[in-house]
Amino acid sequence: MNCDIKSQIVEELQAQFQEWEQPTYRVTQLLEWLYQRRVTSWDAMTNLPKALRDRLNQHYAFNTITLVTKQGASDTTQKFLWRLEDGSLIESVLIPANPALYGEASDRHTLCVSTQVGCAYGCKFCASGLDGWKRNLGVHEIVEQVVAVERWNSVVNPKSERIVNNLVIMGMGEPLANYENLLKALKILNAPWGGGIGARKITISTSGLAPQIRKLADEPLQFRLAISLHGATDEVREKIMPVNRKYPLRELTNACEYYQSKNGRMITFEYILIAGVNDGIDQVKPLAELARQLNAKVNLIPYNKVEDLSWERPSEARQEAFLQALESEGITATLRREKGHDIDAACGQLRLKTERAMAEA
Ligand code: SAH
Ligand code: SF4
Repeated sequence: MNCDIKSQIVEELQAQFQEWEQPTYRVTQLLEWLYQRRVTSWDAMTNLPKALRDRLNQHYAFNTITLVTKQGASDTTQKFLWRLEDGSLIESVLIPANPALYGEASDRHTLCVSTQVGCAYGCKFCASGLDGWKRNLGVHEIVEQVVAVERWNSVVNPKSERIVNNLVIMGMGEPLANYENLLKALKILNAPWGGGIGARKITISTSGLAPQIRKLADEPLQFRLAISLHGATDEVREKIMPVNRKYPLRELTNACEYYQSKNGRMITFEYILIAGVNDGIDQVKPLAELARQLNAKVNLIPYNKVEDLSWERPSEARQEAFLQALESEGITATLRREKGHDIDAACGQLRLKTERAMAEA
């Protein structure tokens, strides 16, 4: 099978064009069609000679992803459900910056992208893992989520040049379990000839694959790292995250320390508050200890109810009490007052719903 054109870095394209005895400026033209104008066919690349377009067509696949549905209005969280070439469904979520919270311009958006179809890690609270793991996404399928959202934006907001300023790798799947494809995709999305998104504006979230965190620390590109902690003791974490048996907290925190020693950036702990599981005030001290040890900040996220699962989010009073107790330990923490709750914004939920509805139809 031909590899997809959007899985190629500039050096690979240059080597191929050289073999074809094409001048290098043709590569620049090609990249402009792919990442600035975001066309969806070879024939749209009108300044490339027809013979070259034919050659590209024979040599490379050129797949785009198809929008199945979009939920949410333009000033809120918007969720895109995509269909891939093999019929698999994945999600990306576009989240407007909260100017009140971060003092950012209100046209800033963060895009949350998926890295796998399904997930093998089976966290007990998560919709993505409910039907297991299907496959890794290819490099081009990760890249194309960003390109396709920009393509969509250029139609609905013809005046806006770009909508995605930040990238979070927090959609469906465990990013570090699709390590090679993810890294190549991020290289393309970061490159000035590609997505042009700064490495500091890219956050990778992991459920805690310790060896891959160490590997990531040694990469030349330095991304931000978020750890899905959700439990501050092995006892609590093990109950909801089977991965903790493989990489217990001790091993995870050691890997995080290594990451930080190489990278120097602040790590973020994601901590979903689930009623009666990890939201007790007794959990605040061990959580604060871990955060202090790693100089991490903590994002508290009220649990998003998943159909078929019995977990619940705690009351707002309980969420606020947890936040306050954590802050009085001197920890930098935020409580996400969810914007996407109404549209199943947590990872995997829209896909799960759609697949179940399709199965019933
Ligand atoms: N597999 C990676 C990245 C994808 S999950 C990881 O686990 O970090 C992205 C985040 O969404 C994780 O922090 C995950 O724990 C969280 N999440 C999953 N289901 C959720 C739900 N129902 N409500 C709130 N957050 C959820
Ligand atoms: Fe997979 Fe992350 Fe969901 Fe766990 S939380 S099942 S690792 S996607």
